[in-house]
Amino acid sequence: MYTNGQAVIKMPAIGILGGTFNPIHFGHLRMAQELAESLSLNEVRFIPSANPPHKPLPLVTADHRAAMVQLAIADNTLFAFDDRELRRTDTINTPSYTIDTLVSLRTELGEKVSLVLIMGSDVFTKFDTWHRWQEIISLCHIALVQRPDKKPSEPLAKSLETFLHNHYTEHFDDLHESNAGFVTMQAITPLEISSTAIRSILQQKHSARYLTPQSVLDFIEINKLYASI
Ligand code: ATP
Repeated sequence: MYTNGQAVIKMPAIGILGGTFNPIHFGHLRMAQELAESLSLNEVRFIPSANPPHKPLPLVTADHRAAMVQLAIADNTLFAFDDRELRRTDTINTPSYTIDTLVSLRTELGEKVSLVLIMGSDVFTKFDTWHRWQEIISLCHIALVQRPDKKPSEPLAKSLETFLHNHYTEHFDDLHESNAGFVTMQAITPLEISSTAIRSILQQKHSARYLTPQSVLDFIEINKLYASI
């Protein structure tokens, strides 16, 4: 907790939304917007992964995925683009580990900023397989959201249940009074949109209008992305 001797100081909070963004869609954007409001985040950073450890290598280049993120968030002053995972020199052979990203953000932003790692429920069910996963909560908070299309088919692993038990809070103030250490669950408008579904729609030569911003669709068309994936 951060105090000036007596009163608890509320610190700014930055949301971190990592993803493959292959492509970015309204599910990502709406979630970021709603969490920014419900958790009073000063900013949400979109961080495209170079070589996601838990997914097959995307056939669309990192530069194209990043460009689509930039187009999609361009008109929102709450949103920021962060290319630190793409700037790493060893991105081809080394996975982008979230712990490295968080250490890098902490080094840049210091201790007086709360970091809130945003995660869909589908991602959290595999969180205990992440590189140095138990250290992550010492660097950030975690905000979990339920994805409508990804209801868990199996109960949560015991290790994750214990993790939730140890870190869960319903008090939103906790996220502004400590810079890390809490897990919160936030209800958002359920949007059953995924990048997988968009890729499949485009592959079938159907329209993906209203699933992602028009600027992203234009970019996809100009660069002939996803046509044969
Ligand atoms: P794919 O279908 O290729 O697996 P995706 O749609 O899940 O991609 P990612 O870029 O992998 O998109 O997701 C980044 C983050 O956004 C993850 O934490 C994921 O759970 C979350 N997310 C993606 N789509 C939604 C959605 N519709 N609602 C809420 N969270 C979402």
